[in-house]
Amino acid sequence: MFKSVLVLGHVRGIRIEIHASWLVIFVLLMASLGAGLRQAHPDWPMMVVMTTTLATVLAFFASIVAHELGHSLVAIRRGVPVQAITLFIFGGVAQLGRDSESANDEFWIAVAGPVVSFALAVIFGILSLATAAFSDPLSVGLGWLALINLVVAIFNLIPGFPLDGGRVFRALVWKYTGDARKGMNAAVMGGRLVAYLLFAVGLWNVLAIGNLIGGLWIMVIAWFLLTTAEASGKGYHLRQRLQGLRARDFASRDVPMVEPGISIQDWIDHHVLPQGNRSCLVGEGDQVLGLVTLSDIRRIPRDQWTATPIADAMTPSERLIRVTADTSADDVLQLVNEHNLNQVPVMDGDGLHGWIDRSRLLRSLELHLELNRNARG
Ligand SMILES: [Zn+2]
Repeated sequence: MFKSVLVLGHVRGIRIEIHASWLVIFVLLMASLGAGLRQAHPDWPMMVVMTTTLATVLAFFASIVAHELGHSLVAIRRGVPVQAITLFIFGGVAQLGRDSESANDEFWIAVAGPVVSFALAVIFGILSLATAAFSDPLSVGLGWLALINLVVAIFNLIPGFPLDGGRVFRALVWKYTGDARKGMNAAVMGGRLVAYLLFAVGLWNVLAIGNLIGGLWIMVIAWFLLTTAEASGKGYHLRQRLQGLRARDFASRDVPMVEPGISIQDWIDHHVLPQGNRSCLVGEGDQVLGLVTLSDIRRIPRDQWTATPIADAMTPSERLIRVTADTSADDVLQLVNEHNLNQVPVMDGDGLHGWIDRSRLLRSLELHLELNRNARG
């Protein structure tokens, strides 16, 4: 979902980026605000309408980034890492590294965004009043920004996942029942309800009012909220069920390993082609020296494969991304996704415990879950 992005810069280590789909909402907003200003102020020259529209729309997206920064900075202060803030077709999203560990964390991270939007609404409102006497376009633009930030704050407080209000709702249910899962279920249920209501509002706009574009847009947002709520619920429950599962529980003991002296050609002929291994460890006895993959091999010209020992192509042991036997399943999944790894050795210091292969990882986790479920009845 977050491929094809343009990185704008970094704020406190958080990447601020724009997804290609953002262009759609940018053009829609420019067109609708531009048309609105032109109609409301027929006396303004075209140039003034255009500059006011552009400046106001850009300030609106800066406000959205500020809202997401609100969530992010509180998250970081509470120990939850934040990878990026992405602007996309439905607004902005802060990509948090993990679930909150307490109801309080969840509550404060969630409310921080709407609090920023409320504050911006107040500031823009005051500035709009203050500039009314000497610049009509400036005051009108600021007034619109005050209103839209107020709408963003209120809309986001609707208690359905994935809206901020859904997270607040989740935190409150969590706090009063002491059960994080009940909180999540309630918030996903709220999210479904909000999505269905919103869909009905969109349909009513199309059929009863004849507001075709606006109505369809509301229906698309409803669909987005529904799919996101369902996916968040599923992802959360999967992570919950993986809890307690460690790398040692699903690592393969059957570790492909070759001696450092064999040539690349020998590795291809005797290990890659007959066994279908795309990678293997390089080592002597119990000592791991490095890891070699097909992409490492491709960097070496083919006519040198017979003469080059495999050790010349490998990633040396000290630069290897590895996990320990105690690493949680959740962390292994995150590491594999983050670095796009196809294989991870399981090691404690220099001791080798096993091997995790990406293509078999999910299958192996699924089997684990299935067996656990049966065991519990
Ligand atoms: Zn928010």
